[in-house]
Amino acid sequence: MQVLTDIEPTRRLIRELQARGQQTGLVPTMGALHEGHLSLMRTARQQCDFVAVTIFVNPTQFGPSEDFDAYPRTLGDDLAACDSMGVGLVFTPTLDGMYAPDAKTTVAVAGLTGDLCGRHRPGHFDGVTTVVAKLFNILPCDRAFFGEKDYQQLTVIRRMARDLDLPIDVVGCPTIREADGLAMSSRNAYLSADQRRQAASLNRALRSAVDRAAGGERSAATLTDRIREEILAAGPADIDYIEAVDAQTLQPLRSIDRVARICLAVRIGACRLIDNIGVDVPPSAG
Ligand code: AMP
Repeated sequence: MQVLTDIEPTRRLIRELQARGQQTGLVPTMGALHEGHLSLMRTARQQCDFVAVTIFVNPTQFGPSEDFDAYPRTLGDDLAACDSMGVGLVFTPTLDGMYAPDAKTTVAVAGLTGDLCGRHRPGHFDGVTTVVAKLFNILPCDRAFFGEKDYQQLTVIRRMARDLDLPIDVVGCPTIREADGLAMSSRNAYLSADQRRQAASLNRALRSAVDRAAGGERSAATLTDRIREEILAAGPADIDYIEAVDAQTLQPLRSIDRVARICLAVRIGACRLIDNIGVDVPPSAG
């Protein structure tokens, strides 16, 4: 496994592999790797001859009062994990290597980024799309793998690739969870034991909503109100949002009359947790 920090040799390596007819896959991460990240690498290995992982804690997607400094950094363990997954290249750029001091360009996807996490984290998605566009250029792979855990991010990146004709297939991968349903996240390390138990309520409440929808409940407000009640019954939490949206456009829904996604962000203590679940159109209650 190669570990590279510079842009030019990284791009050269991917181009050489492609010239030899290899299918190349990209897994962008911020490190502190867990089973969720490893599942992306596994899928990439299944679909591609060569897998490149990027590890970069991207400052431009953190707000001024967010956890950029505290974000867990575990490079040694991460490299060992990548190696054990059969990854061929890890790209670990420096901050200066990624962002020239006089850089002036931002990639922004309008429309999909104003609501949900975008409403609560101004500028976050511009930071994400800009760094991902750069990574797509530095590592011009055939496919890139992203988790459904960050459903809005996946939707935004898909749209960016489509709108800008980027020659890369964006592949969404299912959320990997702890045994009690909590979506794996590098930020779960911030939770105390009590908060960790409480955090299981997020996925439990989302699954109950899917059951209610399958039973014929179409009202988005009824579904999201019940989710809110279930989460708050588990302990003190600040709810950023709980919203049912069109799974493609992320437009808010009043009624579950098409394939939907219920997305939420909840703060438990110092930890901001996100999760989401797909909801099919329920059968008519009448
Ligand atoms: P991050 O390191 O948090 O920026 O995440 C890097 C990639 O891993 C993103 O595409 C995430 O959506 C994905 N990811 C993070 N957690 C999970 C999880 N629990 N299951 C599946 N994918 C995940």
